[in-house]
Amino acid sequence: MEKAPINLMNYDVQGLAGYFSELGETSFRATQIVKWIHQHGITNFGEMTNLSKKLREQLSQETEIRIPSLGAEQISEDGTRKWLINIDPINSVETVYIPEGSRGTLCVSSQVGCPLNCQFCATATQGFNRNLSVSEIIGQVWLASKKLDESPNTKRSITNVVMMGMGEPLLNFNNAVMAMKLMMDNNAYNLGKRRITLSTAGIVPRIDKLAKACPVSLAISLHATNNYLRDKLVPLNKKYPIEKLLNACKNYSRATNDSHITFEYVMLKDVNDSVKEASVLIKLLDGIPAKVNLIPFNPYKNSAFERSEERDINLFRDKLYKAGIMTITRKTRGSDIDAACGQLVGQVEKRRKNIQNTH
Ligand code: SAH
Repeated sequence: MEKAPINLMNYDVQGLAGYFSELGETSFRATQIVKWIHQHGITNFGEMTNLSKKLREQLSQETEIRIPSLGAEQISEDGTRKWLINIDPINSVETVYIPEGSRGTLCVSSQVGCPLNCQFCATATQGFNRNLSVSEIIGQVWLASKKLDESPNTKRSITNVVMMGMGEPLLNFNNAVMAMKLMMDNNAYNLGKRRITLSTAGIVPRIDKLAKACPVSLAISLHATNNYLRDKLVPLNKKYPIEKLLNACKNYSRATNDSHITFEYVMLKDVNDSVKEASVLIKLLDGIPAKVNLIPFNPYKNSAFERSEERDINLFRDKLYKAGIMTITRKTRGSDIDAACGQLVGQVEKRRKNIQNTH
């Protein structure tokens, strides 16, 4: 049987250096390839003119540069763009670009579906199929950059990445980390580590691991101030309850030079949105350099919750704000094209709905 070609999109500079050293080439080739692919958007070896002809031929025989294919694009009234990314014949994920002032934030997916089953999230209703590969994660950035370059009038680029699309990135740890390393590499997308935010429902041991492997900005999907409610909303809480999660946050902040941790809190009407809960939240966050993002619930088909009243969201925000916690209400973007937080669904061939038990 013929050996399957190696997909060079699956590696960062360090990973590629290993491959080139096996070929007897200098590790500098890895930097050159990464530049061609990610900085220049070139996937055809013939155009990589600073590599010898012999090496280019060898690369075309043994390797490939395979990007997931771009599916439908939707553009919201507010400029938010959502792309369907087809990753194999039966599955696709969604990627969202959110322009705001001089910023351009790309919301990237890490898994096909999600195994965590949070009760208020559309992705959860789809079940879980598999982890995305590095090429499928970084491919979203590659494709979005290309699409943005093709619209030169808008002069838009990706200034920030949030790992907040479909899936739980810490359950796809190695691939998410390698993809983020490519995002940060100055030969690729050159984003500073503070410009990349990884959002997690709280896989505690992996938060510790992330601090060592790739200390990007951390966001925690908290959503409740007591374990009774959080167990229901975010079933992962049964395994990693609030105290353990907040302790991991403290350690993460310390390990990353007192960086701020963002706490996401979805505002669900009459469920978690009282001023009393805001007071409990203030106590919980004591001692953690924290920012809070209140996310007004985004409804989807058959969702069981309602969005909190604006008045209640403001009261909640003011309470935190007065206690000195930087708090913002996240603007709902792209809801007319179902591109807002928790609305991403893609196309998931469901395999299982259960929590993944390998962490
Ligand atoms: N699994 C990761 C990454 C998903 S990030 C995590 O849980 O953090 C997506 C963010 O949107 C999370 O904070 C999630 O809790 C929130 N969210 C999910 N469904 C939502 C909905 N319907 N309305 C508003 N926010 C939602």
